[in-house]
Amino acid sequence: MFSEKFVIAIDGPAGSGKSTTASAVARKLDIVHLDTGAMYRALTLLAIEKGIATDNNSALGKIAQNMVFAFKRDGSSQQISVDSRNVTSDIRSEKVTSLVAKYCQSPSVREAMVAKQRDVAKDASVVLEGRDIGTVVFPDAKFKFFITASIEERAKRRMADFKKMGRDVTLDELMKEIADRDREDSTRAVSPLRKASDAVEIDTTGLTPEQQADKIVKIVKQGQFRSV
Ligand code: C5P
Repeated sequence: MFSEKFVIAIDGPAGSGKSTTASAVARKLDIVHLDTGAMYRALTLLAIEKGIATDNNSALGKIAQNMVFAFKRDGSSQQISVDSRNVTSDIRSEKVTSLVAKYCQSPSVREAMVAKQRDVAKDASVVLEGRDIGTVVFPDAKFKFFITASIEERAKRRMADFKKMGRDVTLDELMKEIADRDREDSTRAVSPLRKASDAVEIDTTGLTPEQQADKIVKIVKQGQFRSV
C-alpha cells in the first residue's frame, strides 16, 4: 500500500488500549505489529520459572539475548511463542503482571530487547507498542502516538478482559494495580514511560478500539506516503 517502509510508535500507560489499537492499525495498514510489553512479560515468565532474582542483571541479560520470539496473528489478537513454546496466556498471569515492571528494569534486558525490536523493523513497516518506543527504541519514528485514558476507564477495560478469562477481581483492585505499575514504569531510571515531545497524544476515554485505530490510520495516511 505504501511506497516506503515506516515505523509507528505507540506508547502509553497500562491498560490504555495500546495492544488492541496497534493490532487494528496493523490489520488496517497490513503491516507488522510488535507488542513489546509481551516480550518483557515473556522474559519475566522465564526468569520466575528459573528462580532468577529481579536484580541479577547478567543472568537476566543472558536470558533476554537468547530468547527467540515468534508472533502470529490470530484474528484480532496475537499468539506469542518463545523458543517454540506458546506463552500467550502464561504471560498474562497475576504473578507475571505484578513482577514485570521490576524485571524489565535490568539494563542488560533492555539492551537485548531494544536490539530485537529494532531488528523487526529492518525489513518491514511495523507498529510497535510499549513504554519507550518513541523515546528510546525509535526516537526517529515517522509516526509517534501517546495513548492515554482515565484510570477508571483503564481498570474497566482490564476488568472486561479478566471476566473473559474467568478471573474475578474488583475495580478497586485493578485501579490500584494499574496505578502501582504506572508509578513504577514512569519513575524508573532506565527508559521510563514518558510522552516523546513530538508524539501525538490521543485520549481514548470513551473511544472504541476501532475509533482509536482509525484516528491513527488517518494521520498515517495523511503523511507523506503515497499509495502505490
Ligand atoms: O504493555 P504491557 O502492560 O503488557 O507491559 C507490561 C510491562 O512491561 C509494563 O508495565 C512495563 O513495565 C514493561 N514494558 C516496558 N517497556 C516497553 C513495554 C513494556 O518496560 N516497551
